[in-house]
Amino acid sequence: MLAPKVPPPFPLQWGFTTRLDALENAPPIRLKQIHGNDIHPATSAVQPGDGLWTTTPGETIGVRVADCAPILLAGIAADTPWVAALHAGWRGAVAGILRRGVALFQEQGGNPEVLVWAIGPAIGRCHFEVGAEVIQAARMDPAWREDLATVTPSGKFFFDLHGFLHAQAMDLGLDARRDGSIHRCTRCEPELFFSYRGGDLEGRQWGWIRIGEKI
Ligand SMILES: [Zn+2]
Repeated sequence: MLAPKVPPPFPLQWGFTTRLDALENAPPIRLKQIHGNDIHPATSAVQPGDGLWTTTPGETIGVRVADCAPILLAGIAADTPWVAALHAGWRGAVAGILRRGVALFQEQGGNPEVLVWAIGPAIGRCHFEVGAEVIQAARMDPAWREDLATVTPSGKFFFDLHGFLHAQAMDLGLDARRDGSIHRCTRCEPELFFSYRGGDLEGRQWGWIRIGEKI
């Protein structure tokens, strides 16, 4: 288990599992992840979407990933602890799932500046080769910078998913000092992480978060 490297804003448990973690304590599956940008309040139902949020202490929410980026958010909105877990591959990132998540926090009365946030292990630029259509789509985002992609010898691109999400976070007014991201490439460390591109078609790690029971 890897924990975000930043103090939480209120008592909570959170982290990013690895291959080495037993999954008995994994959150219940509540999402059918579809690489979109829908974020739901956590209920006991399984819903199609790529993010969950809750204000209920003791309720564990999470997303499953293997190369895509898990994103955890935590902050106080209208005196109430609020947490979210988001699943962002390039499609979700381009579709603005992080923008959606921060907007939901604002709808609850929260100020983006107070959010503590963490992007977990995901496929790094070193291994994330994509076609021109991905870069074309990402360019539509106001936070896009050309240095987030590098042309490969074969005319494709190495895409910096982490960097792109970080740029969106800055654009959204999140505080760089409250960033607990873990910049590790899932494809670079097969002994530790599941990687879809590395051949793990089934195995997933969790990015999960839970508001502490006693606040
Ligand atoms: Zn890598």
